[in-house]
Amino acid sequence: MKKSGDTNQLIASLLRDLASVQSSTQKKWGYKRAASAVLDLDTPIESFLRPDGTLDRIKHIGPSSTRIILEVLRHGHSPTVQQAVAASGRAPEVEKRRDWRSNFLSRAQVVAALQNSKLKGPGRADYRGDLQMHSTWSDGSTSLEALIEACMTRNYAYCAITDHSYGLPIARGVSMANLARQHREIDRLNRKYSGRFRMIKGIEANIRADGSVDMEPGELARLELVVASPHSGLRSSSDQTSRMLVAVATPGVHILGHPRGRKLGSRPGVTADWDRVFAAAVTHGVAIEIDGDPSRQDIDFTLARRAAQAGCLLAADSDAHSPGELDYAEIALAHARLGAVPKSRVINTWPIDRLLKWAQSRRALR
Ligand SMILES: [Zn+2]
Repeated sequence: MKKSGDTNQLIASLLRDLASVQSSTQKKWGYKRAASAVLDLDTPIESFLRPDGTLDRIKHIGPSSTRIILEVLRHGHSPTVQQAVAASGRAPEVEKRRDWRSNFLSRAQVVAALQNSKLKGPGRADYRGDLQMHSTWSDGSTSLEALIEACMTRNYAYCAITDHSYGLPIARGVSMANLARQHREIDRLNRKYSGRFRMIKGIEANIRADGSVDMEPGELARLELVVASPHSGLRSSSDQTSRMLVAVATPGVHILGHPRGRKLGSRPGVTADWDRVFAAAVTHGVAIEIDGDPSRQDIDFTLARRAAQAGCLLAADSDAHSPGELDYAEIALAHARLGAVPKSRVINTWPIDRLLKWAQSRRALR
């Protein structure tokens, strides 16, 4: 077993391969649940191996999944999964889905990256605020005030509320009338928490197929922070560099959110010449997001490294839709650390005054 590899991720991926070739829904579900359980472990699965070669009991992992795990721990691969995939006649499809799981981190690898003092990037203690989250004003489950409280228990000084724009009705995008009401509520909360916490008026605008953003310049100007993200064309293999270049050149856009739009094992996301996109982001002063949602992890540490080398600013965000999901910011931080992104380049480490000044300088004209 190679030391640098993420065994938990490898095993979870094999269990998902196995799930995808099952004909019984119950078995499919069982292997998927086992895969999730392995991904969620805080420690490498090797630590569950007993001296007699058996495995400690792990919740949600039954005997057939245990067999796969032991095969991988012994041989580095699983003959059982190989045979099942070959026998299914669906190897090409399984292979494709495997590609769509590359450079995703397991929980154990996130924990290791955060604890590894040799990594120079930003750590939890440097993190002052989360710049992408959703509330009940769009598709989130939580009120603004509950999000403030949840951020404060994490010692954040600020957060940006980035509910979906009206152009994305599927995510209950917020109308301009409701946005005005939301802003009054944010003003009230900022008075209440004054000196302790600052909520930033943000939006997650949608990047259309041509790269334009689904809000008018005058509307963007009403926001303190605009995250622009792609939510369509995420299964197409054709080049979308020009779409991304138009998006980062749009006045008023601060952050390019989940730039690829990939989803773990289900879609590859946008294909683009990312080095050109990163160079344009530097020119326009747009930050590139590392979205920490475990099923997104977008951009991942390999692209984060290239973005940092290009000179980009980065934003490490949770994209939380509930208070518990604020922890996803740790996954984003792990990618930043593994990508050797300097702390000062991650805008979530900036004090609120510096962040607001930067945001103000990039704000669309009314
Ligand atoms: Zn989004």
